[in-house]
Amino acid sequence: DKIIQVRKLYKIYDMGEEKVYALRNIHLNVFRGEICCIFGPSGSGKSTLLNQLAGLEKPSRGGVKICGEIISKMDENELAAFRQKHSGFIFQSYDLLQHLNALENVALPLEFAGVERSIRQKRAKEMLKRVGLAKRLKHYPRQMSGGQQQRVGIARAFVNRPEVIFADEPTGNLDSKSTKEVMEMMVDFVHEYNQTLILVTHDQEMAAYADHIVTLSDGSIIKEEWKEKEEIYE
Ligand code: ADP
Ligand code: ADP
Repeated sequence: DKIIQVRKLYKIYDMGEEKVYALRNIHLNVFRGEICCIFGPSGSGKSTLLNQLAGLEKPSRGGVKICGEIISKMDENELAAFRQKHSGFIFQSYDLLQHLNALENVALPLEFAGVERSIRQKRAKEMLKRVGLAKRLKHYPRQMSGGQQQRVGIARAFVNRPEVIFADEPTGNLDSKSTKEVMEMMVDFVHEYNQTLILVTHDQEMAAYADHIVTLSDGSIIKEEWKEKEEIYE
């Protein structure tokens, strides 16, 4: 079951005199249940590709089909609705709302989805418990360590059980112990609900968690590797 299909995708930035080919002729299939790592050095186009898959930016040419819909043809409002319904996001800088506590941050996507207040509270609490923050519900981001903030970020990304989770260097600001914790939590959630994780990283160790590694160089895919996993690729 292919959840993401990318066809002949280009992203070209017109910088006056010169053009930057951030992505050139990308073809990519991602299967439901995969942990797919977009790997490569700085400047190779990883974030640009993630933004395309997530419907955060328009391609210059080509198409992205995800959850059965061609998002490269949608307008901004359709895209926003699509992202809210199907995807979760995890950022390197955590991107929690500073004036909301952990519980409120995690409950926010449920509020956008129109879930009733008492159920929001209950589910957000459950998620925070699962990421080991049962005793930090009332803490504001600035009162938590980086690792704790990213665990709130994970709880927020997964609370709606979206089909696809996009994570851009999610452990880029964490030490090796927190990195391991955060990665293992994400992997567990993804497996539990057969979700799909798109993980951007330049770190070889993080790529080891992936089922599918897509290596970019200078805007092109130069290598693809898969782990043998029958339940995904049968
Ligand atoms: P990575 O995530 O692998 O570090 P990026 O996707 O951020 O790489 O960038 C790929 C290339 O596209 C780089 O050469 C970068 O300078 C260029 N680029 C990215 N975003 C823009 C932009 N908004 N305008 C112009 N060039 C950009
Ligand atoms: P055409 O025959 O003109 O390509 P389509 O309606 O099939 O017409 O496609 C229109 C656009 O949607 C194209 O830009 C194409 O890249 C994109 N598209 C179509 N199918 C897919 C797919 N399976 N995956 C990604 N993009 C797609």
